[in-house]
Amino acid sequence: MSGLSGKHALVTGGGSGIGAAIALDLANAGALVTITGRRKKPLENIASSHDNINLQLMDVANEKNVLEALTAIQKTFGPIDILVANAGIAETAPIQKTTLDMWRKVQQINVEGVFLCIRELVGHMVEQKWGRIITIASVAGQKGVAYGSAYSASKHAVVGLTRSVAIEVMTKGVTVNAVCPGFVNTAIVEKSAANITAKTGMGEKQAVDILAKLNPFGRLIEPEEVSSAVLWLCDDNAGAVTGQTIQIAGGDV
Ligand code: NAP
Repeated sequence: MSGLSGKHALVTGGGSGIGAAIALDLANAGALVTITGRRKKPLENIASSHDNINLQLMDVANEKNVLEALTAIQKTFGPIDILVANAGIAETAPIQKTTLDMWRKVQQINVEGVFLCIRELVGHMVEQKWGRIITIASVAGQKGVAYGSAYSASKHAVVGLTRSVAIEVMTKGVTVNAVCPGFVNTAIVEKSAANITAKTGMGEKQAVDILAKLNPFGRLIEPEEVSSAVLWLCDDNAGAVTGQTIQIAGGDV
């Protein structure tokens, strides 16, 4: 693995879970990393743990805020060479109980947020003939998920967006790939387990076990197992990998 020193990486949603693991791996590989999110405290916790990590508040669902935040980040820390579009939410409900508000919120954060960041940052990568765009999609972007229609539709959209941009910039030294995790040990799974507990009365550990067993290999995936794939995609020697979906899913899909 060649080092990433001299590269500036943006990790959206880098204050927790998968994004935090990615930020730390990229920083350890020598990149300057900017992490973003809506809550300052978790961003501060991660940024204070590594000299290479800076933070900026940014709500990916708000175009004006994205434009202002990306301008501020690049003015202070330089242009962005690596985008990890990781920020996302998971909301679940049976289709008949999926409100239009919930549907729109999920698409706005999970799809529009990724689109806005790519649109604003790909130009510099193309100009300098080097760039890495990695979207954190999901196995739910490759198969249907009962009670997860809004989420699954959003992740299918992220995969389509990723593949399309990959083709647009294929000859420009910029790779664009989607990493698709199964169930990962983060707040999203904790929240899903809490939902199961609230609806069924079963214990939280039992609920987590049910989710873990949805990964065919029978355990939750750790955030670091996802970030190692992201790190590999950033390598110069991964320059031939583009337009792909990379499953980190314990045998799923
Ligand atoms: P997480 O810890 O809840 O991370 C989600 C991050 O996204 C948070 O740091 C959150 O920060 C940020 N975020 C949410 N809405 C945002 C918004 N409007 N603007 C900016 N940032 C926002 O959960 P995670 O599991 O690490 O999720 C990371 C990504 O992995 C998501 O895209 C998720 O869909 C995907 N994924 C997760 C799993 C899993 O099982 N955990 C599986 C497949 C895919 P703030 O709340 O501070 O904004």
